[in-house]
Amino acid sequence: MDFDLSDELVAAQELARDFAEKEIGPTAAKDDKEHTFRRDLVSKMGELGFYGCVIPESYGGNGLGFLALALITEEIARVHSAMRVFMNMQVGPALTLLRFGSEELKKRWIPPLIRGESVGCFAITEPDAGSDVAAMRTTAVRDGDSYALNGSKIWISNAPVADSALIYAVTDRSQKHRGISAFYADLHQPGVSRRALDALGVHASPLGELTFENFRVPAGNRIGNEGEGFKICMWQLNQTRLSCAAGALGVARAAKEAAVSYANQREQFGQKIGQFQMIQDVIAQMVVHEEAARLLVYRAAWLADRGQPNNLEVSIAKYTAAEAAAYAADGALKILGAYGYSTEFPVERYLRDSKSYQIVEGSSNIQKIIIAQDALGYRKANR
Ligand SMILES: Cc1cc2nc3c(=O)[nH]c(=O)nc-3n(C[C@H](O)[C@H](O)[C@H](O)COP(=O)(O)OP(=O)(O)OC[C@H]3O[C@@H](n4cnc5c(N)ncnc54)[C@H](O)[C@@H]3O)c2cc1C
Repeated sequence: MDFDLSDELVAAQELARDFAEKEIGPTAAKDDKEHTFRRDLVSKMGELGFYGCVIPESYGGNGLGFLALALITEEIARVHSAMRVFMNMQVGPALTLLRFGSEELKKRWIPPLIRGESVGCFAITEPDAGSDVAAMRTTAVRDGDSYALNGSKIWISNAPVADSALIYAVTDRSQKHRGISAFYADLHQPGVSRRALDALGVHASPLGELTFENFRVPAGNRIGNEGEGFKICMWQLNQTRLSCAAGALGVARAAKEAAVSYANQREQFGQKIGQFQMIQDVIAQMVVHEEAARLLVYRAAWLADRGQPNNLEVSIAKYTAAEAAAYAADGALKILGAYGYSTEFPVERYLRDSKSYQIVEGSSNIQKIIIAQDALGYRKANR
């Protein structure tokens, strides 16, 4: 593994940093406070090619690769974590269509997702099926040349605003997880209702519930064969999990930067608080966790770019980065004291946003299960 980034990757990283600082940063606090969905930013990120890194040119992408995607995601999340969610909502569905969809579906949906013209989402989680994806109850019943979907998906990023969705539903309950199928659907058709949900953080990323009542999805919109949905879902989660890890890395870095900057300015007991060893302990741990997370994220992305299996490496990276973000945000808040607790400074936002990374795309416990079962030889992660 080469630790130097190519000129192309450095250029992508710099472009994303510049964009995040100039276009996202100035209104980050306001967007968070007012729970604003920045449709304009979804488009701008599409225009800059941010969603196209892992998509070939023939479908509107630029093929820069997974490492480029991770670098861009880290830069966006460093400035405003909620905005990095767009990366996954556009890229996750597009990449899944690219891998498993029919040519017709690819041509119809990938370019608008990649250009940021169609707002995407993916709907796996249900009220009674979180980590246990196979417990989902939403059904898709074939009726002539379409499927009728019935059920409810909850905690779906972009649910209140999405134009289209990657949906997983049960086509044959008797087959358990082998009875799940995947669909790509236009959410502006009848049979879909939406309910916005509020949460602790990522306020500028709309969160909600999608309810399907006799929602008709053309049979041609099924992705893969009937019964392949669980396999497709696990594959998709491995991709979106990596981008999520890169986002957590961005939050860890932002929190560390805030803590270092404050510790270098704030004076108590006649000296800068950075001089106190207890503060140095927290900063040292922030640096170590962040650096470890960065190398692990890069390794997982590098493997993906080489077409090698990386499920284990993605889980290790996601677990490490999510915990690094939560540690750094918590540590930064302590170092900033009342200023950290204040809504006038971004650190409380980092803390709220960091917690999402320990839950989404497979919780930290789920990552530990994957890692431990691989180590114990019970279930190899890279099969
Ligand atoms: C901000 C946000 C955005 C989200 N966006 C999306 C989205 O776009 N699409 C989507 O489909 N879903 C989305 N989700 C849902 C998310 O994927 C689920 O919340 C997640 O999979 C965990 O499910 P759960 O919340 O139901 O927790 P549960 O699965 O009920 O878990 C509860 C607790 O038990 C632990 N646990 C569960 N099983 C085990 C086990 N076997 N061993 C040890 N511990 C275990 C978990 O780690 C957790 O701590 C989002 C959630 C959030 C918070």
